[in-house]
Amino acid sequence: MLNHPNADQNPTPPAGSPVLVSGASFAGLATAYWLNRLGYRVTVVELAPELRRGGTPVDIEGETITILERMGMFEAVRAKTLPPRAFECKDAQDHTLGGFGVETGPDAAPPTRFEIHRDDLLDILFAGIDGSVELRFGRSIKRLEDSPDSVMVTLDDGSQHAFALVFGCDGNRSNTRKLVFGDEKNFTYFMGGYVYLKVVPETGLLPPNVSQVYSVPGLTTMLNGYDDRTDIAFAFRTASEIDYDYRDRAQQRAMIHDRFDGLGWKVPAALNLMGTDEDFYFDWITQIRMPTWSKGRIALVGDAAYCVSPVAGMGGSMAIIGAGRLAEALGRHGDDHAAAFQEYHDKLHAFVDDVQKRAANEGMAMIFPASEAEISERDRKLRDGGLEI
Ligand SMILES: Cc1cc2nc3c(=O)[nH]c(=O)nc-3n(C[C@H](O)[C@H](O)[C@H](O)COP(=O)(O)OP(=O)(O)OC[C@H]3O[C@@H](n4cnc5c(N)ncnc54)[C@H](O)[C@@H]3O)c2cc1C
Repeated sequence: MLNHPNADQNPTPPAGSPVLVSGASFAGLATAYWLNRLGYRVTVVELAPELRRGGTPVDIEGETITILERMGMFEAVRAKTLPPRAFECKDAQDHTLGGFGVETGPDAAPPTRFEIHRDDLLDILFAGIDGSVELRFGRSIKRLEDSPDSVMVTLDDGSQHAFALVFGCDGNRSNTRKLVFGDEKNFTYFMGGYVYLKVVPETGLLPPNVSQVYSVPGLTTMLNGYDDRTDIAFAFRTASEIDYDYRDRAQQRAMIHDRFDGLGWKVPAALNLMGTDEDFYFDWITQIRMPTWSKGRIALVGDAAYCVSPVAGMGGSMAIIGAGRLAEALGRHGDDHAAAFQEYHDKLHAFVDDVQKRAANEGMAMIFPASEAEISERDRKLRDGGLEI
């Protein structure tokens, strides 16, 4: 259970020490919230010109709920919660092979898991820091010089500033991690595939509040239906990494067409909805696995330190849990950042390891089955109720 960090608990309160957070998504906004509440003077730099919106909904359950309650944000989250969604695995003729419905009625158990649109959660977290911390959009860290007393930070506008602590919350391809720990290849675990995600206005392809999945070996198409929008996801397996230009969006679309053109079910309609714009998410399916999440006065939070991959369905939760656990450790250890960073890692890494292992094994087999045998096994488990998603 997360202790509430406060001045009584803090042996040597930071009393306005300046700290820097790189990245303003779930990890960065939550970390900035807690640091501000602990009494630090917080600056956030975000590379994008504004909050980066878009993406599929975020699951909120377990410890994430407890932490959002302590942040005073859970009621706002609950107010934006999406209706529960049924799940159906389909064949090429749209027959349902397995899945589960949604329990409703007076006897239904109260929900313990909530889903919220990514943008709504971003807005709620942003409201928690707006006006209380300095936000600098369109900025990035260029250089970090860690010393026993402070970190000298050079930003990409050439300005230099000294901070007591620096937090890298800048995602899977973290700039802070690169500057402090070096080549991302050393920490990136490739899970054997790529994913494309796009959110479009409601398509009529499926009823609201249903997810449908169609898989052939190595290729999965998934549609999530809501009242007002549809998520379209394509995922494909590859034995090794593909060399492509991450800025070339047309090339990424072509990679999807190359693999999915000619498939049955609703795939042709979903491919048509890709359009020609640049508003989609495409990335390799990877995890970040590091032996430690801090060096000197610099610590990493969220995907930057322990990306669990989209397959885990827990990226947003892990970022919020990570920020909450870090705050708890800082609240307990005051100015002893080394002890706080050590505790943050020691108490969280077993949970992270477990989530990552489950995503790499059961998660991949469930969402991106590689063979007919894996597809049949998944559908059988879903029919028998032996698989949780
Ligand atoms: C636009 C967007 C859409 C997404 N959609 C999905 C999705 O559909 N499904 C899914 O599973 N996951 C998605 N993700 C990833 C998901 O948000 C994360 O897995 C999870 O929320 C962990 O959050 P994070 O804050 O650690 O990392 P992220 O959410 O990746 O945030 C990192 C932040 O750091 C910023 N940043 C990057 N480089 C720098 C830099 N050099 N300097 C300063 N700031 C920098 C980024 O702009 C971003 O705001 C998406 C992420 C983004 C940014």
